[in-house]
Amino acid sequence: MARYTGSSCRVCRREGQKIFLKGTRCYTDKCAFDRRSYPPGQHGKGKSRRFKMSNYGLQLRQKQKVKKIYGVLEKQFRRYFDIANRSKGITGEKLLELLERRVDNVIFRACFAYSRTHARQLVRHGLVLVNNRKVNIPSYSVKPGDVVQLKQKEKLVKNTKEIIEKVKDRGVPDWLKGDFDNLRVDITGLPKRSDMGIDIQEQLIVELYSK
Ligand code: SF4
Repeated sequence: MARYTGSSCRVCRREGQKIFLKGTRCYTDKCAFDRRSYPPGQHGKGKSRRFKMSNYGLQLRQKQKVKKIYGVLEKQFRRYFDIANRSKGITGEKLLELLERRVDNVIFRACFAYSRTHARQLVRHGLVLVNNRKVNIPSYSVKPGDVVQLKQKEKLVKNTKEIIEKVKDRGVPDWLKGDFDNLRVDITGLPKRSDMGIDIQEQLIVELYSK
């Protein structure tokens, strides 16, 4: 599967906010954004103060940011947008809801993985069950009533419990009911915009695709 292979920390610095792409490092003083919160590149430092972005630039930046947060490439992202656009409700919110419902995101949100990239690896390696059946497609979309679990393998259970201890302060959103003892998460509803806790202006993405 194609994916973004550049520096994750550059992405945070470019977007001007921490978007937690590197797991534990993001929570330590090694975080590149905490050390250098200005844009990357030779003129980054000056750019943050002088550079005024066009409307198109702002729209593009929002789209790139969301794609990178969820680890989705253009073609798949566009597909999500088309589905959101055809759905009832506010297109931008629907788009984010579809992204949040990805099973790799659920594993991340449940605090079973350091980052979405790590969560995706767990799914790809066949370590995630949905309703007791193995699901190895990270984009698999969960729905209310589903139960997502990690396989009860000794090493995986031990590692995951250590991860939970380190990241549980992130919290689990209301639409998920996490069970840290059994490494299980029940999908109790659909994600609301307020559950997402990310600084995104999704309306700009809708404007970009609606041109
Ligand atoms: Fe972003 Fe900091 Fe994590 Fe790097 S370490 S990905 S800059 S939050």
